[in-house]
Amino acid sequence: MIQSVCILGSTGSIGQSTLDVIARNPEKMQVYALSAFSRIKLLAQQAAQSRAKVVVVPDEAALKSFKSAWNSPHPMPEIRLGTEGLKQTAADAAVTTVMAAIVGAACLEPALAAAQAGKRILLANKESLVAAGGLFMQAVRDHGAQLMPIDSEHNAMYQCLPLEAQCSAPTAPYPTIQRLLLTASGGPFRQTDAAALHYVTPAQACNHPNWSMGRKISVDSATMLNKGLEVIEAHWLFAMPAEKIQVVVHPQSIVHSMVEYLDGSILAQLGQPDMRTPIAYGLGYPERIPSGLGLMDLMQLGRLDFSEPDFHRFPCLKLAFDALKSSQAACVALNAANEIAVEYFLNEQIRYTDIAILIAHSIEQVEKNTYDLSHLDAVLDLDEQARQIAKQYANTLRAAH
Ligand code: NAD
Ligand code: MG
Repeated sequence: MIQSVCILGSTGSIGQSTLDVIARNPEKMQVYALSAFSRIKLLAQQAAQSRAKVVVVPDEAALKSFKSAWNSPHPMPEIRLGTEGLKQTAADAAVTTVMAAIVGAACLEPALAAAQAGKRILLANKESLVAAGGLFMQAVRDHGAQLMPIDSEHNAMYQCLPLEAQCSAPTAPYPTIQRLLLTASGGPFRQTDAAALHYVTPAQACNHPNWSMGRKISVDSATMLNKGLEVIEAHWLFAMPAEKIQVVVHPQSIVHSMVEYLDGSILAQLGQPDMRTPIAYGLGYPERIPSGLGLMDLMQLGRLDFSEPDFHRFPCLKLAFDALKSSQAACVALNAANEIAVEYFLNEQIRYTDIAILIAHSIEQVEKNTYDLSHLDAVLDLDEQARQIAKQYANTLRAAH
């Protein structure tokens, strides 16, 4: 059966790579729906090229922009709006496969809708799992959805799992796994002095040495909060306690992560730092399909290095471990406050070093109360509350500079 794919966030870095892989495998898959929040002209080009049947845009203004940007002899796709449009499309009966590649917690509701509709979900977005991993994994189990991690590290671990442990949403760790070894490049500031970090700019933070990604995840990689989010992501995907997830700094980004078994074997997945490999794995599973990558020259590479992360220079990584050990409310606040902090940093309204301060403050405030986060509405409420706390504090910090 030909897969009919919905790409949530098609204009982003992951979205564009997904379109590239689909175009290389037309006999196995086709695009059904695309979505974008901005860059509507690009969305119109993508929809014309891929012959998408449906597009989702945020509002009426974007709908008008889409119509005026449409410049193709083919029929214009149906245009749906907002979060409701995203949810409807992710659950659409005509869709077999959903690529969840919207950035931030905004992906949570449509990804959940895909899970509730029992789709094959290629999950690039990690913020949904950080905010509501328990709810999301339960929905996957309850509705027989097929969940494939696309984040390169988790995709690597998934590839290193025994077959019977794949395509499941486990409630306990696979019994013979001792540890997950989560690799981290260390980002652009791996060797930057603590004092100099105070003055780094958004352009420097977005200049990742190995990966080309959207701006938010690039800043997350620079603070290493990205790795913290990934620890929480691994916790939910593989039902693994924080103590059994070790972050290993590996500056070459060739070993994408490893699984260590009871007998001492460590299985790793290696590859070039290009998201088309995990995307092709997810789209092709259980087959291997072409991704557009050439051969990797290990001789040219020469060596692979591994070292310990520095929690002092990267306090965000510690905040994430602590949040995971502390409570789901702390994880919601960690993610929400970070989204606000990164936005303020990218707009040059706060400093790079303020990001960790803002997150710590928001977690502390939120943890003064207790919450029942077993329902989506409660998670969304707390997410909004944490955003307000973070914004207020960001404005104070901004005024102080
Ligand atoms: P990006 O910023 O390049 O693209 C984000 C996409 O989401 C765009 O299409 C944008 O229009 C859409 N979007 C943004 N805000 C939205 C909102 N409020 N509602 C609906 N749509 C919205 O981001 P990216 O780098 O492609 O990353 C996407 C997700 O994948 C993130 O969660 C990121 O952590 C994860 N991820 C990315 C990479 C990578 O290499 N880029 C690797 C691993 C995981
Ligand atoms: Mg990653």
